Amino acid sequence: MPPGDRRSHARGGGHGSDSDRVARRDEAVRAAVEQGLLGPESPIIALLDVPGIRASAAALRAAFDAVTAPGTPVLHAFAVKATPLVPVLRLLHEHGIGAEVASPGEVALARAAGVPPSRTVLDSPAKTTAELREALTLGIAVNADNPQELTRLDALVGSTDPASPLGIRVNPQVGGGSIEALSTATATSKFGVALRDEGARDWIVRAYADRPWLTRLHAHTGSQGIPLSLMARGIAETYALAEEINRHVGRRQIDTLDIGGGLPVNFGSDATAPTYAQYARLLAEAVPGLFDGRYGLVTEFGRSLLAKHGTVVARVEYAKSAGGRPVAVTHAGVQIAARTVYAPASWPLRIAAYDAKGRPKPGPDVVQDVAGPACFAGDLLAEGLALPLLEQGDYAAALDTGAYYFAHHYAYNSLARPGIHGYAPAGGHRGADGHGRAGVRFAVVREPQTLAEIVAESGGAQPSALSGL
Ligand SMILES: *Cc1c(COP(=O)(O)O)cnc(C)c1O
Repeated sequence: MPPGDRRSHARGGGHGSDSDRVARRDEAVRAAVEQGLLGPESPIIALLDVPGIRASAAALRAAFDAVTAPGTPVLHAFAVKATPLVPVLRLLHEHGIGAEVASPGEVALARAAGVPPSRTVLDSPAKTTAELREALTLGIAVNADNPQELTRLDALVGSTDPASPLGIRVNPQVGGGSIEALSTATATSKFGVALRDEGARDWIVRAYADRPWLTRLHAHTGSQGIPLSLMARGIAETYALAEEINRHVGRRQIDTLDIGGGLPVNFGSDATAPTYAQYARLLAEAVPGLFDGRYGLVTEFGRSLLAKHGTVVARVEYAKSAGGRPVAVTHAGVQIAARTVYAPASWPLRIAAYDAKGRPKPGPDVVQDVAGPACFAGDLLAEGLALPLLEQGDYAAALDTGAYYFAHHYAYNSLARPGIHGYAPAGGHRGADGHGRAGVRFAVVREPQTLAEIVAESGGAQPSALSGL
């Protein structure tokens, strides 16, 4: 990021714009310090930009509305694994977004948020028979991952007409992206039925012909690091397969295509790129038949809905120097950013510097390390990053961490899960100096984990369990 870039866009801009989001974030950090949510005794919090989440939900719906034939049923199911927080799922539900779930825990979270089964899709690769039975009892849509799972569904469905829409997940094997661990459409990916494998296509066509209750087809061709053109190819292949199956059975048996999620997020600046509108237009050009009204659609976006709306803010406990390199030792490290700490080349994070009062720190930029509190040398949020020099008592903010970061706590060193707060402008006007005064409202999404909870979750109820063996 060029020095000063973040701030130079921080004022003005239209409704729901990236610059508004930056301004809201700056004001939230300042208000968190002023209101005592952040301070010497509460050195780390996570923040969620509620107007930003609402704007992303609206942008997603508008993008697909713009390219689908009128009346086409479209369910946008948020991939719960991206931000598994009940108030977030409820907020999204209130803005027309359902839930894609992949474990009993995620099913429970979606239900606790009030997402109805009719707006929930179950996709995990390792569903037990009991999980499948529960989903079918509730009426949650299920995508079978493989032939063995389909056999389980056969037994559960029996001769009845299932209440749940059911489909099969395929892997179109169109190739991977820049992050191997997130590439789901490689030749050997563990997900779905590998479409190009010997005999697989014929098997799938027969599977549908034999089961009139299979009405959906699902593919999720990857995640961060996958080029849009590759995602579009995966969806084109899936559409072609649905057409082939429907031709073979002589009716529109497959009535809904689940095109997965995976829109990449720009972690390099505050710009939202690519946008949902760009992706929807690209798909409409690449696979026009998908949008002509013959198929209902399900999408499963995760990271792209939440990432840019989350910020972790951590106090600089100590500022030191080692080998000539300034090192800011903060309270945010591997426990909130496991991916970045263990795979920094794939998951670089931007860090913004705030002073002890929560105001954006002016430059000049200094190359420094931003370290976490965990006891291993690699616990760095950023290594050799140029930003205004962080000093003791300042705050370091890890940006774009609303998905797959602070909601994915890693319990190294028994570090506590930080509290998570949603924020929104209180509606008042900004002062003449451009800074809001007490103009931010916060709501607790999740309380910080207590020491008593850490002890309880670590076998604290049975301290002598091993002594008598
Ligand atoms: C993880 C996942 C998603 C969401 O992926 P994002 O990259 O967060 O958009 C969607 N569908 C399935 C099946 C997934 O496993």
